Amino acid sequence: MPASDGASEPVETAVFDGLGLANEIRDGLAKDIASLVSGGARPPCLAVVLVGDDPASRSYIKGKQRACKRIGMRAVERILPAETTQAELLEVVAALNADDDVDGILVQLPLPEHIDPTVVAEAVDPAKDADALHPITSGRLLAGRFDLASCTPLGIMAALDHHGVELSGANAVVVGRSQIVGKPISLLLQLRNATVTMCHSRTRNLQEICRNADVLVVAAGRPRMVKADWIKPGAAVIDVGVTEVDGKLVGDVDFDAAKGVAGLLTPSRRGIGPMTVTMLLRNTLHAYRARKGL
Ligand code: NDP
Repeated sequence: MPASDGASEPVETAVFDGLGLANEIRDGLAKDIASLVSGGARPPCLAVVLVGDDPASRSYIKGKQRACKRIGMRAVERILPAETTQAELLEVVAALNADDDVDGILVQLPLPEHIDPTVVAEAVDPAKDADALHPITSGRLLAGRFDLASCTPLGIMAALDHHGVELSGANAVVVGRSQIVGKPISLLLQLRNATVTMCHSRTRNLQEICRNADVLVVAAGRPRMVKADWIKPGAAVIDVGVTEVDGKLVGDVDFDAAKGVAGLLTPSRRGIGPMTVTMLLRNTLHAYRARKGL
């Protein structure tokens, strides 16, 4: 779907159905697992580690476990008290690394202040790096030969591909440069021959840069920052941001205003979120197959 250069005629916007595509991909994963199991293999297993009792994190890990079970994947959890030391957490991670029945490991973020998330990410066996936060995993992506990659960026690529968005030669703008979204999605888009501009909080003329994008990915955590006049008519607009405002989850793109301008638009609910969990399942199955040679 090429972005139009037209000025202001209304555009028919395709609203991305993240739940629909996530279910489709999960059905495929479930079939793959069923066929492995019917061939005598054990089901793959994702281990989720949570430190503390943050209610949002608890609800995320419950969602991930449910998603695992629905596709026939085992899920185990390690819930640790908030006062767990970094050394104790590293021991738990080491035990999961050593456990041959565990294929993917995810340590739920954010961690309490006294634990350095970088140290924990580096402690996960890269062969089980379902969340793709280990520097070896990022390095492989940088080198352009990757098996595992960050879940949200993989979900974004699947959404763009599902809608047939032309990436080769496209101007892609990514707002946000985090380790989990901005940096890896920039690399993935570049690997598909998009011309990528990465923006962040110090970027000048952000609106103008966004307005030039055929593909605009916004992951800044700034509710409704991107207005209709930041969007090139017909552009594919991927809204990753989720911020709670007055008890409601709000995206980084002003959805109502962007509808009728963007060619493709992801909603903040049932958009990229379900795709992220789906790619966690995909990474775990991938890690399992690679380790077991299946
Ligand atoms: P981070 O806070 O780690 O990074 C935010 C990035 O946005 C930073 O690079 C920051 O720039 C940049 N930024 C902040 N404000 C502005 C601004 N006004 N203009 C331009 N750039 C800006 O966030 P994450 O990447 O972890 O997450 C981003 C959003 O996506 C959050 O709302 C998060 O909840 C959501 N999210 C959603 C997921 C999903 O599955 N739907 C998954 C992951 C995240 P600088 O580097 O200069 O500080």
